[in-house]
Amino acid sequence: MPDRTHKTAAILSIGDELTLGQKLDTNSKWLSEQLVMRGVTPLVHVTVADGLEVLINRISALAVEHDLVVMTGGLGPTADDLTRQALADAMGDTLIEDEDALRELHQWFEGRGIAMPDTNRVQAMRPTRARCLKNERGTAPGLQGVVGETDVFCLPGPPSEMHPMFETDVVGSLRPEIKILTRVMPTVGMGESAIAQKLGDLMDRQRNPLIGTTASSGVVFIRMRYEGSDEALGATLLDEAKGQVREELGEHVVSSEEESLPEIVLSLLTERREMLATVESCTGGMIGQVLTSVPGSSSAYAGGFVAYSNEMKVGLAGVERSVLDSVGAVSQECCRQMALGGREGTGADYAVAVTGIAGPGGGSAEKPVGTVWIGVAGPDGYESIRQFRLGRDREQIRRRTVTNALAMVWMAMTGKGEMPLLWEVFNSES
Ligand code: ATP
Repeated sequence: MPDRTHKTAAILSIGDELTLGQKLDTNSKWLSEQLVMRGVTPLVHVTVADGLEVLINRISALAVEHDLVVMTGGLGPTADDLTRQALADAMGDTLIEDEDALRELHQWFEGRGIAMPDTNRVQAMRPTRARCLKNERGTAPGLQGVVGETDVFCLPGPPSEMHPMFETDVVGSLRPEIKILTRVMPTVGMGESAIAQKLGDLMDRQRNPLIGTTASSGVVFIRMRYEGSDEALGATLLDEAKGQVREELGEHVVSSEEESLPEIVLSLLTERREMLATVESCTGGMIGQVLTSVPGSSSAYAGGFVAYSNEMKVGLAGVERSVLDSVGAVSQECCRQMALGGREGTGADYAVAVTGIAGPGGGSAEKPVGTVWIGVAGPDGYESIRQFRLGRDREQIRRRTVTNALAMVWMAMTGKGEMPLLWEVFNSES
């Protein structure tokens, strides 16, 4: 391998399915994140169809401009899998059969009780000056070669095969010029512009660590990034920056670590040996879904009801029919009864209930699309029932409902029940 450090990288994704729009190129995104967090800056993403000429040209051009090229795809056994040949041509080399790779291929098929088809033999070919990278999850070995002075890695297309190979064979070979350290703090109850105003100079683009924000359905993540050669100094500066952010944003900071809201709520519940239940109308089970996608959630999430129709709201959550008849399902009182009924019906310590109009139909002047009530019932008679206007797009409304519901559980548990949330409607009647 050349001694050249890896300052910049190019990512090359190969496959007709990508250029024809049949598959989304998620490999480039994942690889970029991985490289960035290790101090190598990807400058270009290129996607090409399965074609030998175009591939050779791209590999050669990218190798002139960058210190590292990472490619994915085109390592399969069929005629349209051209990465091996293209790498050999770009290296000015020829292909030979790699004995170890061939043996591993045979073993892979034997392990599954089938004889290796002849077509797969081509997967053991490599340029004479390249090396094969073992594929633990599939048949296609990866390749590592050098084009000009540039390291080139060819990894399989399927993410489940590519990720482990990147971690095993690429990470250890990276030679970044600088170290990158990052920290992330999730916040609720403030929008990005309000945060920017509060943090002021701390978000200056010249600072190191650099502080920025990204928003996702009601949670704003404060992202901090140190770039430099001194790791210990970076860690100290990041701790300092975290302290400053906490000082400015106070109770809005949900965690000092990079955690999602479901993770934060569940670990708080687990720590206190308390349980949460959900009663969902307009989200149709999405809150339960995000909670149960966290491993170990069963110790803190009791379960709940999807009470979508009025009948279910009455039957499952114990909402009084007279409430539905007088103020309707999307109302403070209905939401309150859903939360209380959910708590009582499941025996959980906390219950969160949501009822709203996700649209596109069903809105009125009084209750427009996006009107959502979220309620939390907790121990010692705790109740918090709030109204929100969460936009006009159905999926956005449902995602924002999930986030605000979890934020309200977190607030109930941490004594922050008074804090206003994003898109909340104040002084409202039911
Ligand atoms: P295999 O031999 O396992 O097919 P391969 O290296 O030949 O590996 P491809 O045939 O190019 O890979 O792609 C196989 C599958 O991997 C694609 O159908 C697609 O599902 C997935 N894939 C390929 N490239 C990408 C990408 N850039 N992002 C996300 N998925 C991808």
